[in-house]
Amino acid sequence: MQTGTAHLFIPGPTNLPAEVQRAMIVPMQDHRAPDFADLLAPVLDGLKPVFGTHAARIALFPGSGTAAWEAAIANTLSPGDKILIARHGQFSALWAQMAQALGLRVEAIDVAWGAPCPVREIERRLGDDRHDEIKAVFVTHNETATGVTSDVAGVRHALDTCFHDALLFVDGVSSIGSIPFEMDAWGVDLAVAGSQKGLMCPAGLGILAASPKALAAMEASTMPRSFLDLRAMLNAHDAGSFCFTPPAQLLHGLRAALDRLHREGLAQVHARHHRLASGIRAGIAALGLKIVAEHPSFASDTVTAIRTPQETDAREVIEIARTRYNTQFGAGLGPLAGRAFRIGHLGDLNEGMCLTALGMAELSLKAAGARVDLGAGLAAAQAVFAAHAPTPAFAIAAE
Ligand SMILES: *Cc1c(COP(=O)(O)O)cnc(C)c1O
Repeated sequence: MQTGTAHLFIPGPTNLPAEVQRAMIVPMQDHRAPDFADLLAPVLDGLKPVFGTHAARIALFPGSGTAAWEAAIANTLSPGDKILIARHGQFSALWAQMAQALGLRVEAIDVAWGAPCPVREIERRLGDDRHDEIKAVFVTHNETATGVTSDVAGVRHALDTCFHDALLFVDGVSSIGSIPFEMDAWGVDLAVAGSQKGLMCPAGLGILAASPKALAAMEASTMPRSFLDLRAMLNAHDAGSFCFTPPAQLLHGLRAALDRLHREGLAQVHARHHRLASGIRAGIAALGLKIVAEHPSFASDTVTAIRTPQETDAREVIEIARTRYNTQFGAGLGPLAGRAFRIGHLGDLNEGMCLTALGMAELSLKAAGARVDLGAGLAAAQAVFAAHAPTPAFAIAAE
């Protein structure tokens, strides 16, 4: 048995605000009754500013982020279409693998895990594509395996520079709702999210936003689709419901979470993630450890992947944290297994939680044999937090 609070610092599912948990304790209701729209409409409306869009249509699919990945592909592309994608972490690699499995021709650009999407190389490949074979460019906005944020606006610029007509697909599963995301301004055609990361809900909803251009592409797409049919779901949403039984509890939770995000203010939410991530990064640097992101300019404000010293197995750090300190860190994925662990710092989070994460990381690293000075990371993070105090208004208004 473990006493006290369990500490969850994985990059999704994230910690649920009590308000969101409470909002989900509701009786079952008829999803075909006219008043179901009273629940669905504010969720769809509330998501739009979070995606940075007026123009796009949003559809919710029972499933996780992976379902929305598939919905994006299956509704707008056709078997044999070529897509361009950079592989620079587990999630971009898996999305490429899915595209392949669905019958697309995948032109992959392999770059280091720790690097962002290579915008210049994307531009070069688009420029070389004289017969417009590339139908879509896929970007993983925030590579959760490495803690790297990519320049989506830069990829849009590359498309525009080449006068290339390819659709722009963006995986925003670990970015949307936490760091700036500007679907309209960046010309994103398909944006993918899930309910369990920045949106502070349990897993269970894949969220897909489709631009007018994506909706036009849907008319020409010949990919087989049934459960994930976007047109059918948008029609059902227009009628205030789903094509099949929706996870109503989750919609109640998401409505409460969106309400919370908008009460705090999206600009404040983004600033908070930046402030907290800066503290985590300062703490890790003060411990003499390196992060997987190759340069601070693209280090993610939602998750940090931390390399353990040569002599320290990251799996042991994670196991010690879990068993001794009731603390969960994210594992190193793929080639980073055993060499890195991850701290998720997104969603419903504050300074105290970040200091706990760092303190537990210090204890666990030390116990796993790493030479770290206990307290060094904490002091560095505290210095950041002392210099950049949060705005108190929300902290008081929220409770
Ligand atoms: C978590 C995550 C996914 C997968 O989402 P699931 O909800 O686990 O299906 C995809 N992409 C990124 C960037 C993620 O962080």
